[in-house]
Amino acid sequence: MKKAIYPGTFDPVTYGHLDIIKRAVRLFDHVIVSVAESAAKNPLFTAEERVVMIREVCEIDNVSVDRFKGLLVDYATEQNAVALIRGLRAVSDFEYEFQMALVNRKLSEELSTVFLMPHEQYTHLNSSIVREVASFGGDVSPYVPPQIVQYLKEKFSE
Ligand code: ADP
Repeated sequence: MKKAIYPGTFDPVTYGHLDIIKRAVRLFDHVIVSVAESAAKNPLFTAEERVVMIREVCEIDNVSVDRFKGLLVDYATEQNAVALIRGLRAVSDFEYEFQMALVNRKLSEELSTVFLMPHEQYTHLNSSIVREVASFGGDVSPYVPPQIVQYLKEKFSE
């Protein structure tokens, strides 16, 4: 059974992430979407909230949702994963992703990073734009599922 891990901050999950998840499950037997707990990015939603949100909008067979701390390659090895999935939206993503992929390969030769490109309609989309628009009360429904629109509304009314 070929397992892949799709790691990320998912703060919050967007239609772009969901597009990548759907592409990944066609290539692997099982995909674990894994929320990075790292506080370095000072996320809007807690790791637990991000996990719950992904579970709510991503009820796909062969996809599970988890969280991880520490070194991604150690977590991937524990999970018996053969690949890491990352999304590539534009050339601007490439430099950072390339560097990460090479570092991860140095740390674990058996683990490959697989890059998937989302549908063109999601190439401009990222979670920080969604957070910013939502923080000013703008309409984010083109970018995130209705449940996430609701979570954002609640978060910004706290
Ligand atoms: P990270 O903090 O690890 O970049 P993100 O949640 O921003 O976490 O993204 C996780 C992964 O999903 C990254 O590989 C990122 O490039 C990809 N991604 C984010 N938004 C999109 C999108 N709109 N289309 C395709 N891939 C995306």
